[in-house]
Amino acid sequence: MSKDANVILEVKNLKKYFKVGNKDILKAVDDVSFFIREGETLGLVGESGCGKTTCGRTVIGMYDKSGGEVFYKGKSVHGLSRKDKKAFTKEVQIIFQDPYASLNPRMTVADIIAEGIDIHGLAKNKKDREERIYKALDQVGLNREHANRFVHEFSGGQRQRIGIARALAVEPKFILCDEPISALDVSIQAQVANLLIKLQKELGLTYLFIAHDLSMVKHISDRVAVMYLGSMAELAESEELYNNPKHPYTKALMSAIPIADPDVEESRERIMLSGDVPSPINTPIGCKFQGRCDKCMEICRKEVPEFKEVEKNHFVACHLY
Ligand code: SF4
Repeated sequence: MSKDANVILEVKNLKKYFKVGNKDILKAVDDVSFFIREGETLGLVGESGCGKTTCGRTVIGMYDKSGGEVFYKGKSVHGLSRKDKKAFTKEVQIIFQDPYASLNPRMTVADIIAEGIDIHGLAKNKKDREERIYKALDQVGLNREHANRFVHEFSGGQRQRIGIARALAVEPKFILCDEPISALDVSIQAQVANLLIKLQKELGLTYLFIAHDLSMVKHISDRVAVMYLGSMAELAESEELYNNPKHPYTKALMSAIPIADPDVEESRERIMLSGDVPSPINTPIGCKFQGRCDKCMEICRKEVPEFKEVEKNHFVACHLY
């Protein structure tokens, strides 16, 4: 996969398997490769159960890997020395999907935000700690008066802002955004997405942004990767992927996004995906999408399609290309 000197994170043939029962293997992440440049957002999309969250969490070392490699700034994430691990856990943060479950209801907002500050010993003294908390609150559009309240006093959107402030408080470089807007009201989703875009510009952050909502991913991402059943189906720059999807699965996902222009909306082709996502246990030989693909050929049932560059910066895993 072509890349350049600005790459901050590189994932090479990553695998994450889970044992299920006595002999079955669940291949949640199955030979996935991609890279992320410093300061960019890579969107990672797919239906629920496709392995995107497991992939994101394995990438940042929350889970051990079953195979392959992940490099952050050239160092193997799963083989960091104690010193490098400390720096890594400060630089790499996560924003969770569910702000209700990810914030401790018994802690004040200030203590939640200060957790990372305390763990990494960033504050010089009490005053500095307080300033850092206030700064994080300011950055996410909350008031300093919110610092001594508890999370149950806040709305869903505000709670997610607290989650973002907690991540920002340690001055990270890379944030895994694990479906950070999926649990929010539609009216609030754009506000939080716009806040993340603004923070990225101001602070030079890099995001791996996981979502199942393709329209929001387009809004926030420079490039988008589409996962299906633990594998990469397609990866391209945002505009290119949305204007020129190549993989039959991506085309089907795209065709389900509503278009504002009623004439275009009425005349365009809708591709219905038949059936549910199959189980990631005992996946078929060949292409994993074969059972739902209306373009399936003989070779698709025999050989796994290689994930390869079919146009400049446009990667697809499909025997049609
Ligand atoms: Fe469809 Fe074959 Fe392409 Fe898989 S490899 S998406 S089955 S055409």
